Amino acid sequence: MSMCAPMNSAGTDVSDRQLANSQLGSLEYDPAPESAAIAKLKPSYGLFIDGGFSDGEAHQQFATVNPANEETLSMVAQASSVDVDRAVSSARHAYDKVWSKTTGAQRSKYLFRIARLIQERSRELAVVETLDNGKPIRESRDVDIPLAAAHFFYYAGWADKLEHAGFGVNPKPLGVAGQIIPWNFPLLMAAWKLAPALAAGNTCVLKPAETTPLSALVLAEILEQAELPPGVVNIITGDGVTGAALVDHPDVDKIAFTGSTEVGRMIQQRTAASHKHLTLELGGKGANIVFDDAPIDEMIEGIIDGIFFNQGHVCCAGSRLLVQESVADEVLRRLVRRVEQLRVGDPLDKNTDVGAINSAAQLLRIRELTDFGESEGATRYTSSCALPQKGYWFAPTVFADVAQSHRIAREEIFGPVLSVLTFRTPEEAVAKANNTNYGLACGVWSEKGSRTLWVAERLRAGVIWTNTYNRFDPTSPFGGMRESGFGREGGRHGLEAYLNV
Ligand code: ADP
Repeated sequence: MSMCAPMNSAGTDVSDRQLANSQLGSLEYDPAPESAAIAKLKPSYGLFIDGGFSDGEAHQQFATVNPANEETLSMVAQASSVDVDRAVSSARHAYDKVWSKTTGAQRSKYLFRIARLIQERSRELAVVETLDNGKPIRESRDVDIPLAAAHFFYYAGWADKLEHAGFGVNPKPLGVAGQIIPWNFPLLMAAWKLAPALAAGNTCVLKPAETTPLSALVLAEILEQAELPPGVVNIITGDGVTGAALVDHPDVDKIAFTGSTEVGRMIQQRTAASHKHLTLELGGKGANIVFDDAPIDEMIEGIIDGIFFNQGHVCCAGSRLLVQESVADEVLRRLVRRVEQLRVGDPLDKNTDVGAINSAAQLLRIRELTDFGESEGATRYTSSCALPQKGYWFAPTVFADVAQSHRIAREEIFGPVLSVLTFRTPEEAVAKANNTNYGLACGVWSEKGSRTLWVAERLRAGVIWTNTYNRFDPTSPFGGMRESGFGREGGRHGLEAYLNV
């Protein structure tokens, strides 16, 4: 079945479609693209080791492409195990000679500087992020970059107050942290990892994902501008082989990983029986639970945001909608209408709601799983939006009539695809929400506070939002349980991952 073919089996009728289209027609926007030139990208980037950029030892490079048009943005270095060793040695030297001797107040000063420089270069960073990742500029501009700055500001405030954080009178850092991050929120994940590690007094070797290395490399320039002492942060680009070399390096004291459950499991095995501390933030299959008394307009927007934000490339996405049976038809009808209105296309356009899928490999996975959705008997509704000819695109999709046994209800799709299931009682909602190997995030929508609390208490997930979804704040801890990983990032809890407590 064609990806973009209008389908009509999710309880919609032609008048809904016409209504959506007529509303769209009256809301037609002129293109409002941000200029790609603002990114000021260089044709190639080296590795950021010991305070400066240098070529990789093997002089190997790979291209990072714009997923919206498949054009090469820049060439970046593939770090070998020799380069990893150089980066770790630099971090160890900086830890021993400089960073472990700085006061908390001095570390605060650097973190504040980095935060301010991110703000100053926020427009450039937003464009870089959107070009490299494919996410709408509206999101990189209003969410990713401001939140990245906010994390540095927040942990700047902790650096000179560690003795008051509840981890003993004089909590000590771990040493050298190896940090491996994914491609869905590249700069934000770098900030989540670096800011608490530096505040707690560790030095770092950060490896961005191979499809989205560019914002981390601009961050490296910012670290130079901030005059952060050489070696305190090293940023090395490369694929999983580089990541594995970092995990295996004997002089790393801590591994912090965000990515797939499969790789996380492997990293846990490889670090077992070593001195290395480990935190893992892995996949999810978040349930967004909707009761019949929830305010419907807000809730529809919350469901949309929960799954289509960042093309659904979100580990805590509300990818399973659990809707109370008495309102299921209405919710589905309104959802489908809203999906039809989402603007899919040029990520640099300020009016775009849904951008490009990050890579060909990810697009393939989304297609495979949605094909399973159909063959296993769920009812598919896919937006009839036009998709660009070049690049990696997937039209927003909703599956109704999903059973718990379906793969689209069990496996993380990591794309703009919502699976809708129904329930009758709060007990059934909780049982279905918890019927997953994951445990990262859930949402609960109801007018009744006592009901949302009753449900929240029984959900097995690290993060639970009530009457909202995908809310992030540096003061609030984030992390999972079960196959979603362990450890917390953000808030006071986020310091614990980088202290010897
Ligand atoms: P995804 O499947 O979403 O791309 P991955 O878990 O494969 O997520 O990737 C997340 C990060 O982990 C990336 O930076 C990637 O390069 C890195 N990575 C992949 N394989 C390994 C590995 N075996 N060891 C360490 N890091 C890895």
